[in-house]
Amino acid sequence: MDRADFRVTLLGTGTPIPVSDRFGPSTLVEAGDQKLLIDAGRGASIRLHQLAVPIGRLDALFLTHYHSDHTVGIPDLWLTGWLQSYFGTRTAPLCVIGPEGAKILMTHLERAYALDVSIRIEDEKLPPRGAAISVEEFSADGVVYDRNGVRVIAFEVDHGDAIKPAYGYRIEYDGRAVVISGDTRFNQNVIKYGAGADLLIHEVAIAPPALLAEPFIQRIMAHHTTATEAGRVFAQARPKLAAYTHLVFLASAQIPPATVDDLVAETRRTYDGPLVAGEDLMQFAIGEEVTLRRFAGVESK
Ligand SMILES: [Zn+2]
Ligand SMILES: [Zn+2]
Repeated sequence: MDRADFRVTLLGTGTPIPVSDRFGPSTLVEAGDQKLLIDAGRGASIRLHQLAVPIGRLDALFLTHYHSDHTVGIPDLWLTGWLQSYFGTRTAPLCVIGPEGAKILMTHLERAYALDVSIRIEDEKLPPRGAAISVEEFSADGVVYDRNGVRVIAFEVDHGDAIKPAYGYRIEYDGRAVVISGDTRFNQNVIKYGAGADLLIHEVAIAPPALLAEPFIQRIMAHHTTATEAGRVFAQARPKLAAYTHLVFLASAQIPPATVDDLVAETRRTYDGPLVAGEDLMQFAIGEEVTLRRFAGVESK
């Protein structure tokens, strides 16, 4: 059976730190004839281009929350996806779905780029509809997208008391499911919606023990999930494969960050099932099994 029809690619597995090997948070989900993007962090358009996915070809962009590292790639995605056919020349409005806050963000982006849009309509004769944006907001757990057999369910997560709203997503297609935690502390809702998923993609943060007493480190850790906590989520949700994205490696000028090996070792204290530490352009095919491959066209490591 051809199961190449449900695929997930990590476009960006990083954080606000502007490094070239881990771009800002963004995940591409391809299901049947549809292409969905979860968050659009820094460089999402570059990664799509590396995959030869036309930037204007996305069916919908889903936002988890409004930290800038998850949204700074939106104007690039929106406007570059409207350019000539090489990029897809979107002729329909960009569809954005997110918790409350999406409308104000997108309305102000439209204002910020109004001159570019009017100039290109006049000068390049680009289709005005392709520069339009349609926004749908939600404010509770539930189905937020249901089209051609692809169902997306939003579920609230806990990114800290001040960082609301914050949501994760469960994407279902043809009897299979992929779940993305979004940014969150250890949260029961991820276990509830992640239960039995084929692929559960979770954020994670790790700090060297010597740094854990530092207030600025404690503040950041209080917004995220430790590896042992993520292991507990995986152990209870029992996905076919667990994967990390949004890898937060904390460090200071004196103390270097932990490593991916440290992250995996910490996770193994609470979870002994299949686990992968994500990298940019890592690809998962969701079939009877979940298979993993590195995208061959990647330019850098
Ligand atoms: Zn965040
Ligand atoms: Zn984040």
